[in-house]
Amino acid sequence: MIDLHTHSNFSDGTDTPSILINKAHAAGLTTIALTDHDTVAGWDEASNQLRPGLSLVLGSEISCQTTDGISVHMLGLLFDRNEEALMTMMAKTRDNRIGRMHKIIARLNAADYSITMEDVEAQLSDGATLGRPHLADALVAKGYMKSREEVFAEVLHNNSPYYVAHYSPTPEVAIELIKQAGGVAVIAHPMSSLRGRVVSAASFESYVAAGLDGIEVFHRDHTLENRELLSNIARQYDLVKTGSSDYHGNGKLNQLAEFHTDPVEFEKLESKANARRVITR
Ligand code: AMP
Ligand code: ZN
Ligand code: FE
Ligand code: FE
Repeated sequence: MIDLHTHSNFSDGTDTPSILINKAHAAGLTTIALTDHDTVAGWDEASNQLRPGLSLVLGSEISCQTTDGISVHMLGLLFDRNEEALMTMMAKTRDNRIGRMHKIIARLNAADYSITMEDVEAQLSDGATLGRPHLADALVAKGYMKSREEVFAEVLHNNSPYYVAHYSPTPEVAIELIKQAGGVAVIAHPMSSLRGRVVSAASFESYVAAGLDGIEVFHRDHTLENRELLSNIARQYDLVKTGSSDYHGNGKLNQLAEFHTDPVEFEKLESKANARRVITR
């Protein structure tokens, strides 16, 4: 089974890359992608933990925003991390996430939530990309709410008065930089309406022109209707269809391999990278 979208504690997942790899073995996966938000920091640990029977696809889930303010997540897979432009862009996003967190905290403080940057940092592993889930964990630790889900539902969702965006490239720029770095670009959960406004079917034309390779069709946030519509878009533009868990350890309900990618589709996707970068032991 092939699962092309998971998170470790180098972003907002709760498992170390080593534990994630061990769980992937135990779950009987044949291929797993590590796709932490806006970083490649977990790549080495995941590679070192690999044993025969499991192949590793290294990647990142890149936070993007359309010019009209819609949040989009772009999976970059199988790219060369020595390509500066993509790495610089991710570093800029990570850096911007810190100032953005201070702003969200200030808004919460103004509403009488007693929470500090130190409280949030206490929830973050060394070298990890800072995100709202760490703030959620801090609010849970302080007893304000019971779970990440509850915090997102109450105060941290995209339409909340406490919400602040951070710098993000447009989806087109992210796709271009992923392609420039020799990788493949797959748009993650494009119709996950739980997270706020989503892109229209018409916007795929521009993503395809930028070099989009695939669509994450099979994901727990998509309804059957969403999947059908996205399958049609994939057929129209000859894009690869993927499926994945978006596993976050204990951070979300998503279970490893709950959705997976057809091996024929994966082969097609892998062949679009400019070098053979799937790691095996
Ligand atoms: P950020 O990148 O800081 O804007 O935070 C967004 C991340 O929060 C997403 O990538 C999800 O992993 C996570 N997230 C969004 N909604 C929820 C939720 N309802 N429960 C738990 N995690 C969530
Ligand atoms: Zn996440
Ligand atoms: Fe995402
Ligand atoms: Fe994700």
